Amino acid sequence: MKVIDILNTPNTKFTFEIVPPMKGSTLDDISQTIETLLPYNPSYINVTSHRAETILVENANGTFSKKIVTKRPGTVGVAASIKFKYGVEVVPHLICGGFSAEETEDALFDLQFLGIQNILALRGDAVKGERAFTPEPDGHGNACALVQQVAKMNRGEFFTPDLKHNNADFCIGVAGYPEKHCESPNIETDLRYLKNKIDAGAEYIVTQMFFDNKKYFRFVEDCRKIGINVPIVPGIKPISLLVNLNNLPQIFHIDLPAELARNVEKCKTNAEVRDLGVEWAIQQCKELKAAGVPALHFFTLGSTAKNIAEIVKNVY
Ligand SMILES: Cc1cc2nc3c(=O)[nH]c(=O)nc-3n(C[C@H](O)[C@H](O)[C@H](O)COP(=O)(O)OP(=O)(O)OC[C@H]3O[C@@H](n4cnc5c(N)ncnc54)[C@H](O)[C@@H]3O)c2cc1C
Repeated sequence: MKVIDILNTPNTKFTFEIVPPMKGSTLDDISQTIETLLPYNPSYINVTSHRAETILVENANGTFSKKIVTKRPGTVGVAASIKFKYGVEVVPHLICGGFSAEETEDALFDLQFLGIQNILALRGDAVKGERAFTPEPDGHGNACALVQQVAKMNRGEFFTPDLKHNNADFCIGVAGYPEKHCESPNIETDLRYLKNKIDAGAEYIVTQMFFDNKKYFRFVEDCRKIGINVPIVPGIKPISLLVNLNNLPQIFHIDLPAELARNVEKCKTNAEVRDLGVEWAIQQCKELKAAGVPALHFFTLGSTAKNIAEIVKNVY
């Protein structure tokens, strides 16, 4: 089933995303997260995608060589194994970074063979250590170009010339930023680019995490004002560690509300932060659900499934 058809049904759905395990691991490494959350009937599960990194490897003579390493491959494989093992709809993430358009087309064909009809189209971040995002020579420089490629495939136009193939039928989601994407000069420009992604064929938006619902509500309002009328799914992450006070703003370019930050500062242990984070997320989710959001989408990275299960139990 397509995500857009799921989101267009009444009631607030529960969804979450998981990160593929490190290379060399098995599905068992993520099955604990999935099996803890399955009893709460997720409508679909997203699977993130991770670009290769350049690392320095020391040679026998003491010099260093660059080596490209993909630490978390397998988005397509992990998504397929979840779909077939658990019978849940999946949404693999596709990123521009590190892939040519032709490689992306191959991944889309793999998804078609596997009967996976949903993708979240993203640009990805700059390579670690580089300031700006650089696409592959034959790759896409932003998510909109990726959406355009998938939309073309849906119309039966392929990157590979003269390819005879049935039209694809992918439902495309994209990312949105209630607190602005860190590279955008201002919110207006960011929203204009977001609208380009929708005009190119994306059918819904999933937001970056936020901790103040007012920011989400204002974002939805601003989107509606410029004609973005698709479902906007809020992204939720319960804080669980003392270090989240600094690393979440640093990594994700988001604010923690003063009240939340003050309360985290008072915590002496991660267990106290975890309780506070769960309670904060419960209050956030209750308000969002009461406002009729299409789904609550949980980021599981760094938050144990147990925390999310506790939130979901209290909200639904
Ligand atoms: C829900 C969610 C899931 C995510 N999952 C993953 C994941 O699995 N893997 C991963 O690596 N990252 C993931 N990310 C992070 C994401 O890849 C980064 O935030 C990335 O920096 C931007 O991706 P985007 O798709 O929003 O990019 P884009 O929409 O391409 O936007 C990137 C920047 O470019 C600007 N821009 C857009 N179009 C143009 C244009 N035509 N000209 C000039 N500027 C333009 C935008 O305003 C923005 O500042 C996720 C983010 C979210 C919110």
